[in-house]
Amino acid sequence: MSKITENLIRDYRVTDGKKFRLKDIDPGDTGKARSKEEAQELLDRGIKWLSSEQEKLYATDSWSLLLVFQAMDAAGKDGTIKHVMSGVNPQGCQVHSFKAPTSDDLDHDFLWRCSKVMPERGRIGIFNRSYYEEVLVVRVHPEFLMKQKLPSELVGKKIWEDRFEDIRNFEKYQSRQGTVIRKFFLHVSREEQRRRFLSRLEQKEKNWKFSVADIAERAHWDKYMDAYEDMIRNTSTEEAPWYVVPADNKWFTRTVVAAVIVDALHALNLKFPHVDKSKRKELDAIEATLKREK
Ligand code: ATP
Ligand code: MG
Repeated sequence: MSKITENLIRDYRVTDGKKFRLKDIDPGDTGKARSKEEAQELLDRGIKWLSSEQEKLYATDSWSLLLVFQAMDAAGKDGTIKHVMSGVNPQGCQVHSFKAPTSDDLDHDFLWRCSKVMPERGRIGIFNRSYYEEVLVVRVHPEFLMKQKLPSELVGKKIWEDRFEDIRNFEKYQSRQGTVIRKFFLHVSREEQRRRFLSRLEQKEKNWKFSVADIAERAHWDKYMDAYEDMIRNTSTEEAPWYVVPADNKWFTRTVVAAVIVDALHALNLKFPHVDKSKRKELDAIEATLKREK
């Protein structure tokens, strides 16, 4: 499994962003997948494996896993999360969606609302959007930065560089505490977004998914792409890599994301906790008592 997984994900992993160029990743790429069916089979196997591995993660109660999802609207964040985590016990998994900050959020530092809900030991935490919005939407819309009530002396030209540094340090700290971090940018093309918006408008049962605000953000496409590229260049590290996942074909996106999670958990070499001799004796005695009860 691990060689197939590695082949599938290698091309999309960024651990050192210095030379990263967004244009090198084609949103329509389907990698080395020979067919949709083959990818689907791989995804199914991945999902099964994840479900058993998550049990070990939970039982070990030591490592935790944080999955961060960022993307333009309609890139498929929600569907990917739903499919990839479909086999996982909901008790061991928490999804948090980060929308526009509340006034309480704005009264604190920008990492506050996310750091409050980092996954506990043994859990998988999923961030549907995250602190990365602070170098994306806030960068594209400087008026959002004005609302953050920062002392004006601290808002200078270096603010984005400073935020990148703060994020790198935060992620390093978290990973030293046992949180494994994997970050996904679902990279959809402008043309595919147009098609998906149109289908949300044309099909009645999809109308609810369409938001007028999405069209306003689409108008800033190039600014967003620049912000994404700069973000990936500055926050890709060995301990918290970005995966830039082609997102024009949903089946491919899901297979790659599942493979990344499989790979991350595989590297932890998880095992069910060992029961020592005295504990085994105790369990044997209880087992015998229960059997006698009948
Ligand atoms: P959906 O799939 O339901 O559309 P969504 O994640 O797009 O999910 P929305 O409520 O449509 O949810 O959008 C959330 C909005 O909140 C996004 O436009 C996002 O950029 C914005 N947002 C998130 N974090 C911040 C932040 N820190 N500052 C300003 N805006 C933010
Ligand atoms: Mg939206």
